[in-house]
Amino acid sequence: MTNKLARPRGTSDILPDEANLWQDIEEKARKVLKVYGYKEIRTPIFEETELFKRSLGQTSDVVQKQMLELEKEGLSLRPEGTASVVRSYLENGLDKNQGLAKFFYFGPMFRGERPQKGRLRQFHQIGAEVIGPISAFPFFDAEVIVLSVHLLEALGLRNLKLKINNLGTPAEKEKLSDILREQLKDQVKDLCSDCQERFGRNVFRILDCKNEQCRQVVEKIKIDDSHLDQRSRDYFSEVKNWLSKLQIPFEVAPYLVRGLDYYVGPVFEISYEGEGLGSQNALGAGGRYNSLLQDLGGHDGLGGLGFALGIERIILAMGDGEKKSLDTPLDVFLVYKSINAGDLRDSVYHKVFELLNVIRRNGVSADMLYIPTDFPKQMGVAGKRARFAVIVGENEFKENTVMLKDLKSATQEKIPANQMIETLKKRLC
Ligand code: AMP
Repeated sequence: MTNKLARPRGTSDILPDEANLWQDIEEKARKVLKVYGYKEIRTPIFEETELFKRSLGQTSDVVQKQMLELEKEGLSLRPEGTASVVRSYLENGLDKNQGLAKFFYFGPMFRGERPQKGRLRQFHQIGAEVIGPISAFPFFDAEVIVLSVHLLEALGLRNLKLKINNLGTPAEKEKLSDILREQLKDQVKDLCSDCQERFGRNVFRILDCKNEQCRQVVEKIKIDDSHLDQRSRDYFSEVKNWLSKLQIPFEVAPYLVRGLDYYVGPVFEISYEGEGLGSQNALGAGGRYNSLLQDLGGHDGLGGLGFALGIERIILAMGDGEKKSLDTPLDVFLVYKSINAGDLRDSVYHKVFELLNVIRRNGVSADMLYIPTDFPKQMGVAGKRARFAVIVGENEFKENTVMLKDLKSATQEKIPANQMIETLKKRLC
């Protein structure tokens, strides 16, 4: 007997019931993103490995340990979206055509991580990026942060905590890493083996480590904003002022450092403080990456910033209530009477099937139970799945009428069949 084939570890099948929820999340998110003037961009799911090395940094954990490289040709599955969007912006000359561009994307990302709850090897992100001659506009930092919070709230999520920090310019960030090394140097032996290695390669990552021992070490170090000069402090103050004015609560978290090389300036993370996510409670994160534009060949003065939210973690954080509120019901469920049980040759059944197709062709979503079933059972399913029931039987077909039942108010009325679509469309808006 052959073994059954299973999906690769750290991936998931999104089955139809859940796929509905995914579509609803994407639809809601799309609406919000459009309200803020962002447009969709779709880039390949694999790129030259070199792109990720140059943007995320040779020493980042993602490049060092988590890249899923394709066997041939120096290509890798994308571990995140920003590098590709910046590459695409520059490669397609959008800096010349339109200057400022606001993008969003949805899609799978790939990281060869050790799978656990909330941490997958194929996961999905909703991301947004603003790129253009905006290297020093704190409005955009505020906009991007507000947008990410608004997106999560639009999906019904509460109990969110926004943490922000300022990494400063590349030179100031370097200073910060020296400060961290200085403070950690006597405790390297107490760190986990990964962090011992990170000490030399990417000291920022140690602050993110979930290992209990490392957390104890990290708790004792003192970080403030002494790595920043006045200009960077003023910039960050403006961002904070805007967040306060726009009524977005936040907390300044000096320990919040992003492990990717491209981040400079303000960075942020939104975590879910309710139950269910355990240690992987970051729903999304982002920040400024001005120098990435120049690293990938853009002209001076170009800057960028953005964020990505993890869809799987959003779903883990959603309670049943939020999931339900996103669930869009069918417009109509077609319920039929007086069919001989199981007789698919019944002429009423044929008329019902024809009517179902007429309703759909008119752009009204509709379904029915294809296997003839008793009336109460059909009404039960209609109540769960649809906004209206259209009820028909031999009499209705003779009279050219249908019974239209509003499943919310439980009221019903008989209407001429030729007015059904118009009436439904009116009631559905
Ligand atoms: P990052 O690109 O690392 O800044 O992550 C942004 C968001 O993507 C995180 O806050 C998570 O919600 C999600 N995410 C990142 N890595 C994973 C993963 N391995 N599995 C599931 N979600 C992830």
